[in-house]
Amino acid sequence: MSHRNVSKEALIGSITLGVVFVAGYIFGKRKSSRMSIFKSHAKGKDNPLMQYVLNHSLREHPVLQKLRLKTMEDSWSIMMVACEQAQFMANLAKLIKAKKALEIGVYTGYNTLSMALALPEDGVVVACDISEDYTNIGKPFWKEAGVEKKIDLRIQPALNTLDDLLSSGQAETFDFIFIDADKVNYDNYYEKSLQLLRKGGVIAIDNVLWGGSVLNPSPDDADTVAIDKLNKKLHRDARITLSMLTVGDGLTLAIKL
Ligand code: SAM
Ligand code: CA
Repeated sequence: MSHRNVSKEALIGSITLGVVFVAGYIFGKRKSSRMSIFKSHAKGKDNPLMQYVLNHSLREHPVLQKLRLKTMEDSWSIMMVACEQAQFMANLAKLIKAKKALEIGVYTGYNTLSMALALPEDGVVVACDISEDYTNIGKPFWKEAGVEKKIDLRIQPALNTLDDLLSSGQAETFDFIFIDADKVNYDNYYEKSLQLLRKGGVIAIDNVLWGGSVLNPSPDDADTVAIDKLNKKLHRDARITLSMLTVGDGLTLAIKL
């Protein structure tokens, strides 16, 4: 990439951050400011190049599509993973021949379903969330797709589930782990996930760019501080190799050595 492109991107980044800051200031609430960030992101119909990417690569299972449309009716649908990101992670899971996956933060279970469809017949996704309201939206679709038996949903704080898995002797048995719940606990999720993961397994950590706010974390924004701290820690972590991708809101892949 040329310096010219870098400085152009830096300029676009600065402008985006400015817009984000003003939106956050005006609307006050995180949800409002993050929604404005996401709208400006490449989400398909507003962005011809992103639409081209989707038109030429997305192979969404019909039940996944139904669940996505159902989730769009929910006021927190912004939390749902992007369909192209879910497909990418499903392909990654297939590539490493994953059988056992863990999802920390399920919401309506779009990615849970995508992962369950990607795993072999004897595969399992342990799905962690605290909300039955959200996960109940997804359950009928898991059933319709014929993969509900592969999904082991645990409704309690995810840290408790991770401790349960560790104390039941499941350390080093998971192939793929997706961290996508409350951001202040990201480091705790990462450390326990690393214990649960086999060597060569992958931890995918979502929202590592947090709409650009990691560039200038405000000390009183606990979510951004937690994400930025973990990003810095992972860069130095000798237990893994990693890539930070600009997919969606930023996705780090950490591969256990
Ligand atoms: N991965 C989902 C997808 O593919 O669409 C999106 C997950 S959403 C961003 C975050 C979820 O984390 C919410 O459903 C929320 O209820 C859940 N959550 C928040 N705090 C949690 C906790 N302490 N333990 C487990 N889940 C939690
Ligand atoms: Ca997310």
